[in-house]
Amino acid sequence: MTSRVIAIDGPSGSGKSTTAQAIAERLGFAHVDSGALYRAVALAALDAGLALDGPAIVDLAESFPVGFRLTEEGYRPEVAGVDVSKEIRSDRVTAHSSPVSALPDVRNWVNTALRAAVASHPKGAVLDGRDIGSVVFPDAALKVYLTANDEERARRRLIQQGQPSDDANIKEAVDRMAGRDTADSTRAVAPLSIAEGAVVIDTTELTFEEQVSRVIELAGAIFD
Ligand code: C5P
Repeated sequence: MTSRVIAIDGPSGSGKSTTAQAIAERLGFAHVDSGALYRAVALAALDAGLALDGPAIVDLAESFPVGFRLTEEGYRPEVAGVDVSKEIRSDRVTAHSSPVSALPDVRNWVNTALRAAVASHPKGAVLDGRDIGSVVFPDAALKVYLTANDEERARRRLIQQGQPSDDANIKEAVDRMAGRDTADSTRAVAPLSIAEGAVVIDTTELTFEEQVSRVIELAGAIFD
C-alpha cells in the first residue's frame, strides 16, 4: 500500500482539484493536480506548434523543461521555469489537453513526474486526476471517485471561470464538457474509470464543505 497517498479521480467539473487542495491543506499533505501537468505539456506543444506525436512531445517536455515546482502554495506547473498556472486554464489549452493526454508516451512521462513529486514530499500527497487510483497509485491508502450530474458540473466550471451560469451558458458548457468526458472515458490508455476499491461520492447535492468533510472522514479512518 502507498501509505501516504490519497487518490481523487472523476470527470471534469466534479470538484476534484478544489477538494484535493482543501484536504491536502487540512492534512498538511501536498496537493498534486495531475491535470495541470497534462495541460502544461499541451501548452508547450501548442507553443512549439508540434503535431500530436508522443515521443516528440516528451522530448519537448524534457527540453523546456515542463514540470512541477514545490512552492509555499503547493506544486505549481512550470514551462521553462515560468509558472503557467493561469495560462493552462485557457479554452485552447483545455481543448488540446485531452488529445495530448491520450498519447501513451505522454502518460508514461507524466506518471513518472507524479510519482517523483510524491516521493520528494516528506508528509504525503493528495493527487487528483482521471487514473490516479487505477494506474498511477493503484495502492493508494484512500481512493475516492467524485462525480456530479452534468448540469451541476457545468455550473461549477462556469462559476470557477467567472462566467455567468444562466441556462444557455450551462447548456453550452455541458456540450463542451461532454466531448472531453467522452474522449477521456473511451481512450485506449488509462481511461477515466472508477478504480477498484474507490469510494464513489456524488456531490450534486452536497455543498463544498460537505464534500470535503466526507473525504476527511474517510481519511481520518486511515491516517491518524
Ligand atoms: O483535470 P483537468 O481538466 O485539468 O485535466 C485536463 C485533461 O488532462 C483532461 O481532460 C484529461 O484529458 C487529462 N488528464 C488525464 N489524466 C489525469 C488528469 C488529467 O488524462 N490523471
